[in-house]
Amino acid sequence: IGTVAAAQANFMRVIVQNGLDEGSSRAGIELLCVVRALLKKIKRRVMVGDRVVVGSIDWVDRRGMIENVFQRSSEILDPPMANVDHLVVLFSMEQPKLEPFMLTRFLVEAESTGIPLTLALNKVELVDEETLVGWKSRLRSWGYEPVFCSVESKRGLDYLAFQLRDQTSVIVGPSGVGKSSIINALRSNHHAAGALEGDNWFDPILGSKWFEDQRVGEVSTRSGRGKHTTRHVSLLPLSGGGFLADTPGFNQPSLIKVTKQSLAQTFPEIHKMLKAKEPEKCSFKDCLHLGEPGCIVKGDWERYPFYFQLLDEIRIREEFQ
Ligand code: GDP
Ligand code: ZN
Repeated sequence: IGTVAAAQANFMRVIVQNGLDEGSSRAGIELLCVVRALLKKIKRRVMVGDRVVVGSIDWVDRRGMIENVFQRSSEILDPPMANVDHLVVLFSMEQPKLEPFMLTRFLVEAESTGIPLTLALNKVELVDEETLVGWKSRLRSWGYEPVFCSVESKRGLDYLAFQLRDQTSVIVGPSGVGKSSIINALRSNHHAAGALEGDNWFDPILGSKWFEDQRVGEVSTRSGRGKHTTRHVSLLPLSGGGFLADTPGFNQPSLIKVTKQSLAQTFPEIHKMLKAKEPEKCSFKDCLHLGEPGCIVKGDWERYPFYFQLLDEIRIREEFQ
């Protein structure tokens, strides 16, 4: 049994525990695998992050065949990944400046996946402590406990690494906030500790070129519809166990899976107000909490205008669908 760490065309890199070599390495070893034809036939697509059963293993050449796929606990599309169990929503304090509405969009998108999330704020060395204290209480009122970090000063990185241990995580956020820097920092930290065994992604037959090819767009020749690029993702094994996606996600939160009804569930403030009044409920079962008669959610919270604005956006989208 292993985890698909990278995929390209017909090959999958699967990290498995080597049954012949018990206990020697927590990170396990990597096998280059093909997918059993039967699985393809029944349209069982294998994704990065999938837990798979590998058979026909050749431990010397490190080859195998994926024979089955376990049921997924979650699935995200940007980047395409299965079994993500932790999202890190990353923003920066400055450069670019922390923007509450943009942050809300990412939080809503992240919350809509149902995957637990951590809010991390980078580049904290660019602002004073007073500003951080202010943001901390503000974000607490939104229902989040922010992790302050800085790739520059290394603040908070150990704490983040600790939070990511034993899980499969993806860092999401707008461009320029330091997602790639954080991925590299977490990666090299662990590498320095000598624990990132899977970093040696050299294949004796395909060579290291295989891995480089991951970065470039894939050309679709079969569809005949010309070239188009696919976003590739690979998993970096972490020392505490678990994996971190090498590609950040949600570049543009589309909120495509969020409906007028489900939007409220992505705001911890609303959730908290409803919870506090249990067993009392809004009069209307499909209450949107916009001041309907008998609504028990008050509109006196900071992000209420954002909620209103996003609801409007979703309403327009739904009407044009
Ligand atoms: P991404 O687009 O989110 O992946 O962001 P990058 O990792 O490419 O970083 C964008 C820029 O921010 C780069 O110039 C980084 O060097 C810089 N950067 C990253 N982390 C920090 C930090 O903690 N402090 C400062 N001042 N700059 C940072
Ligand atoms: Zn209501």
